[in-house]
Amino acid sequence: MLRLEQVQKAFGGNAVIRGVDLEIGAGEMVCLIGASGSGKSTLLRLMNLLEPVDDGRIWLEGVDISEPGLDPQPIRQRIGIVFQQYNLFPHMTAVENVLLAPRRVRGQSREQARPSAEALFSRFGLADRMEHYPDQLSGGQQQRVAIIRALAMQPQIMLFDEITSALDPELVGEVLDVLRSLRDEGMTMVLATHEMAFAREVADRVCFLDGGRIVEMGPPEQVLGHPREARTRAFLSRVL
Ligand code: ATP
Ligand code: MG
Repeated sequence: MLRLEQVQKAFGGNAVIRGVDLEIGAGEMVCLIGASGSGKSTLLRLMNLLEPVDDGRIWLEGVDISEPGLDPQPIRQRIGIVFQQYNLFPHMTAVENVLLAPRRVRGQSREQARPSAEALFSRFGLADRMEHYPDQLSGGQQQRVAIIRALAMQPQIMLFDEITSALDPELVGEVLDVLRSLRDEGMTMVLATHEMAFAREVADRVCFLDGGRIVEMGPPEQVLGHPREARTRAFLSRVL
């Protein structure tokens, strides 16, 4: 579904992604792990075309989306991204936040866009929070609204960057439940995470990044349970 081929990225001469090859199959859930600064967020941003690649290619269903000059907007509708900071508009209700993109980007009216938004709020246990403003919601609820906002564009792939890192521990579970549910319905997902137990439970594959390279990649029981590489073992001994 999404394929990265020898992708490279530097910021001001500082090489951050150094030749990454990665293929994500339809319905697969891939977790990116690695120390701070290893390049997880940058890799997700490259996949979503928030940053242009310096070299290499990114293919979405056989189409090269890394071509310079390509309009990133239609691609970003197909690849949703959710960040650690949910960035909801404070002056808009939860449902207005969700309806914004379908209205602006798809040109749908409120009435057209609302039923599928309502269905998402119900599905993720927020039917009674739709008319609340962000500051009337818990962090976990706000993050679920941010996920609903991305899903409202009906993306084919969802990228998640440390979406539970800013949450109080007791709120992490409700957000991880959303990811479990998406996984069970076959959503293709790439997730940068520090939640090793969660990665072990749900990932089809885990990628360990170090210094902008994929050092080790495989099923979670291998990468997290029986890592082959010394760098993976050293990282896991620090975080587990
Ligand atoms: P963390 O676990 O802390 O989120 P990460 O693995 O997501 O880390 P990145 O955010 O991808 O790491 O950063 C990788 C490297 O690239 C870091 O050294 C960072 O300082 C650098 N970097 C990222 N974005 C930029 C930017 N826009 N300009 C300059 N340097 C950047
Ligand atoms: Mg990051």
